[in-house]
Amino acid sequence: MTVRTHSAAPAYRPVLIQPWQLLTLLFLVVFTALPLNAATVTLDQHWEYRWGDSPFSGNTPEWTLQDEPDAWQPIDFPSNPPGRNGQENIWYRTLVPQGHWHDPVLYIFSVDLIVETYLDGQRIYQYGHFDSNGRGQFEGWPWHMIQLPPDAAGKPIYFRIFSNYTDIGLWGEVKVTERMTLYQQVLEDSIDSLTITAFSLVIALLCLLFALFNTERNSLLALALFSLSHAGLALTGSQAKQLLMHHPLLWDYIEAGCYYVLPIALALLLRSWYGARYRRLFNSFALLFGAYLVGALILPLTGLTSLAHTYPPFDLMFAIGVPTMLIIVARHWRSASHDQRLLLLATALLTVLLLLDMAVAHGLLPWSKVPVDWGSLIFSLAIVALSLSHFSHTRKALAELNATLESRVAERTHELEQMARQDAKHLKALEFGNSKRGILDELVVEMESLADINQATDYLSTQIHTLCSPVPGAFYSLASGSSQLQQRNHWDTTASLATNLQPDALQLPHDDWHVFNIHYDAPGLARTQVATLLLDFGTDSTLFDELSPFTLQTLFTRAIERINLTLSKVALQQALSRFSYEDALTGLHNRRYLDEMLDREIARGQRSGASIALVMCDIDYFKKLNDRYGHAAGDRVLQVVAQQIRAAFRSSDIICRYGGEEFVIVMPESQLDDARARAEQLRIDIAASHITFDDINISNITLSAGVSARYADDTTADILLRTADKALYQAKNSGRNRVITADSPTQAQPTIKQA
Ligand code: GH3
Ligand code: MG
Ligand code: MG
Repeated sequence: MTVRTHSAAPAYRPVLIQPWQLLTLLFLVVFTALPLNAATVTLDQHWEYRWGDSPFSGNTPEWTLQDEPDAWQPIDFPSNPPGRNGQENIWYRTLVPQGHWHDPVLYIFSVDLIVETYLDGQRIYQYGHFDSNGRGQFEGWPWHMIQLPPDAAGKPIYFRIFSNYTDIGLWGEVKVTERMTLYQQVLEDSIDSLTITAFSLVIALLCLLFALFNTERNSLLALALFSLSHAGLALTGSQAKQLLMHHPLLWDYIEAGCYYVLPIALALLLRSWYGARYRRLFNSFALLFGAYLVGALILPLTGLTSLAHTYPPFDLMFAIGVPTMLIIVARHWRSASHDQRLLLLATALLTVLLLLDMAVAHGLLPWSKVPVDWGSLIFSLAIVALSLSHFSHTRKALAELNATLESRVAERTHELEQMARQDAKHLKALEFGNSKRGILDELVVEMESLADINQATDYLSTQIHTLCSPVPGAFYSLASGSSQLQQRNHWDTTASLATNLQPDALQLPHDDWHVFNIHYDAPGLARTQVATLLLDFGTDSTLFDELSPFTLQTLFTRAIERINLTLSKVALQQALSRFSYEDALTGLHNRRYLDEMLDREIARGQRSGASIALVMCDIDYFKKLNDRYGHAAGDRVLQVVAQQIRAAFRSSDIICRYGGEEFVIVMPESQLDDARARAEQLRIDIAASHITFDDINISNITLSAGVSARYADDTTADILLRTADKALYQAKNSGRNRVITADSPTQAQPTIKQA
């Protein structure tokens, strides 16, 4: 990089050159070695100076009109003559050298700070603006190209200078040459800087790019900042910049900005490489120079100071701060890594170059070009190399991490797939379960509507395959009251089952067969098995890919439980209905049953045109019997009488205990005579019976009966009961122990009424 006093700036009357001209020239210079090197005379001797400012007559400075050799002091080079004493105005003069030029120009590397050039009392060049007091403002540090008239050779040339800066006068090289030769030299001198600018820009871009993907982000960003400022310095340090844009002050601002950023970038870079230990040191360092950067760029804009004046304090800060920082870091040289050591050396080298450059700038060392640019480039390249080696390490680590991550992802994917498969299975099981539940619901409703357990079991055996398929299976009913497998109903079963499974021996072909017992629990009875269901959960089929045997087993176990509950419910209903029509003491039907059945039998008789007979009987003096032998004995008598009535009548007759010790026998399709004969036989049997109860002989039991008979289409239950009751009443009244028949239209008539 180049410190400002080396910076060139445009000759104030612009040395304008079109970009295409510049490129062409650049091309010619680089590739064809254009033979433009005409005679060049360097003006580094025979100068004179004179402190103060010349009075003017009109536009002509009076000092240019007379020779006045006593007023002028000799000096080798027109810069910082002795005896300044705070003066800000000075004049320099020398003779324009002799030479053969087509288009001669005077080149000045730099001027502190503004200048006017006079030849023959005429102003031929001006940079900056002198006010009426001969003072002016800093306007930047361009290089200058002053066009000389063809007859200038041998004439004195005067330079009027104002500077409130530490330096006063011309700076660097001053020479007379051919205009094109100067362009060529400017470009040749700039090639290095332009190349370095391009390199540094590329490095900055690469660093930014890497920073996007790299873990060394902070160091790469700091390096990008460094390279960017370095690129800026290299460009602003090249004289060619003036051929591109003629804003010396703007260039100076850019240059100052880039220059002041350098220590900040350095601090950030060191911080990212040295980590936690020096974090605070580097932070405060970066902060200090950051604050200076902002102040140094803003203050000159307000007019409080000039940009030129911001350099010395910065240089002082830099010269003290950066070496101090490096020394602090270097104390831990032993514990530093190779990378850190290399970085430290590179930084130290760069710092030395910068300090040398500063020393030249401040005149502490004779003017010479310090290769700061190359130093910075090497520094950047070293950092890039370090970063790349880190990057490759990181990448290796990342690749390893990636590999483990990939395998983990694969594992996880596998798990997820398995979960998805299980979910699908679960869904399938739910669907299957739902469809089977629907079938089961219908089956259960149908079974519940059936009156007895046998009907329910029969129905189940016809429907069980719809419930169970596609699971292969077989259903065996048991003959009622036996444990013999009776009926076989199998579906979708394998041939082996059909042949091997014998109804009387449950030889299961393999372990996946499951046996389900179909049974019911009725009140007061032991569990009763009615059937056996066999299901095969081991057979290969698409169903079993999705539903595990365990799922199926669970499902069907529940279904069979529900079927068994339903059967139990049917059995319970059956028992309940029997109990509600049955007389608990005698086991005969009760009066409610009679009420229902009598109507039903009359209706049946009406369809067939048959007659129907009804006997009503009542035990005589039963109250006395109770009184004499006790109520329990009375109950026993009632049971025995009931048995005798059952024996005396046909099984198709309906025998009911009508109430207390009264009985009614309905005899469908019977005549009065037949009924009377059976009643009479009953009466004789009872009268002859002896009943023993608790060792007591109970005899002399008698019974009276009334008999009535009617054609079914000619009577009602009420008529039959009333006429029989009337006859019974007569039997009681006429002495008991007898059978009385009511007047009956069926008397002496055939069983079937003749049409
Ligand atoms: P009659 O010859 O006029 O029929 O006289 P009776 O005593 O048999 O007739 P009554 O109607 O006066 O008495 C019937 C008695 O039957 C009264 C009652 O205590 C008895 N009885 C009714 N139901 C039962 C029963 O379930 N067990 C027993 N031990 N006695 C019963
Ligand atoms: Mg009675
Ligand atoms: Mg009685």
